[in-house]
Amino acid sequence: MKILFYSCKKFEESYLEKANINRHEIKFIREPLNKTTAVLSKGYDVISVFTQDDVTADVLKILQQNEVYKITTRAVGIDNIDIKKAIELNIKVANVPEYSPEAVAEHTIAMMLTLSRNIVRAEKQIKEYDYSIDRLIGFNLQGKTVGIIGVGKIGRSVAKILKAFGCQLLGYDIKKNKKEINDIPVAFTSLENLCRNADIITIHTPLSEETKYMIDDKLLSMMKYNVMIINTARGAIINTKDIIKHLKSKHIGSFGMDVYEKEKGIFFINHLGKKIEDEDLETLMEMPNVLITPHIAFATVEAIEKIAETTFHNISCWAKNTISENEVTLSAHSEKTLIY
Ligand code: NAD
Repeated sequence: MKILFYSCKKFEESYLEKANINRHEIKFIREPLNKTTAVLSKGYDVISVFTQDDVTADVLKILQQNEVYKITTRAVGIDNIDIKKAIELNIKVANVPEYSPEAVAEHTIAMMLTLSRNIVRAEKQIKEYDYSIDRLIGFNLQGKTVGIIGVGKIGRSVAKILKAFGCQLLGYDIKKNKKEINDIPVAFTSLENLCRNADIITIHTPLSEETKYMIDDKLLSMMKYNVMIINTARGAIINTKDIIKHLKSKHIGSFGMDVYEKEKGIFFINHLGKKIEDEDLETLMEMPNVLITPHIAFATVEAIEKIAETTFHNISCWAKNTISENEVTLSAHSEKTLIY
C-alpha cells in the first residue's frame, strides 16, 4: 500500500521505518493535514495523521474526492476527527487506543513533583549562583488527597503510582459503576465533591462535548485554596481564561499543563526568535507557579515504538482486506461525545 504520513516529526521517522519492515511504500511530510494540504493525498491508499491535523468535514470530502478511504491516527485521542462524517463518506478511521498509559502517567507525576518541590525555580537559582533555600520549601505528596478526573487507562496508572506515594485517592468518572480498580483504593465521588476535597487534581478524560470547559470558573471556585491542577489530557477541558483568573488571585496554588486549548500551530514547532501571538499563553508562561511542557507526556521511546507498530498493524489489516480492531465506530464513540 502507499501511505502518506502528515505532520510527521523527525523523531518518528526511524520508528515508523522500522515498524514498516519495507512492507509498504511510505512518505513522510512535515505539513499538517488541512484543506490546503489535503490535495497531497492523491494517489495514496492510506493517510496517517496526528493530534493537531484538521480532519473535519471539508477535509474529509477532499480525501474522498482523492479516493483516500483509510485514515490511521498516531494517537489515542480522536477529538480532531469528524468520525460521523468519515463513516458517512465510507472512510475508515483507526487509532492507537493504547500505547503506554504509563508514559503519560509518569509525566503527570513528574509534573506534580516538579511543582511540589520547586525544581524549576531551584535549577534557575543555581544557574544564577543562588544556593539559598528560602523560596524552595515544598510539600510532601504523602498524605495528600489527589482527585483523578477520568479513571481510565491513564487515570488508573496514575492511581497506582500515587498509592505508593501514600496519597488518598478520589476518582470521578462518567462510568459510575467502578468502585475499586484492582487493588487500588479510589473512592468514586461527584465532580463537585472531588473538587472541594482534593489537594491535587489531575485530568485524564478525553475531550468531548461533555468535557469541554468541564473545569470552569464555577468548579475552580469550589476548589481548596492552594490546590495543584495537572492537565495532561486535552487543553480545552479547562477554560484557560478562568484558570488564569484563579491563578492571578492566588486561589490556585500551581498548574501543570502538557496541553493547551490553543496549542494547534504553537506546540510541536520551534518558535525561537519569534514572538508567540497568544496573550493567554504568554500570561501562563510568565507565571512562576505554572509549569508548561509542549504535549510530551506520550513521548517516550517505548510509547513511540508502540505507536509505530500499531499504526502499521492497522495498515496491514487494511492491506489484507481485514478489519482492524482499532477502527473507530460510532457506537463506541457516540456522536455526542465527539468534538473536532
Ligand atoms: P481511556 O478511554 O482509557 O480513559 C478515559 C476515561 O475518561 C474513561 O474511564 C471514561 O469513562 C472517562 N470519561 C469520558 N468522558 C467523561 C466525562 N464526561 N466525565 C468523566 N469521565 C469521563 O483513555 P486514556 O488512555 O486514559 O486517555 C485519556 C486521554 O488522555 C485521551 O483521550 C487523550 O486525550 C489524553 N492523552 C494525552 C496524551 C499526551 O501526550 N498529553 C497522550 C495520550 C492520551
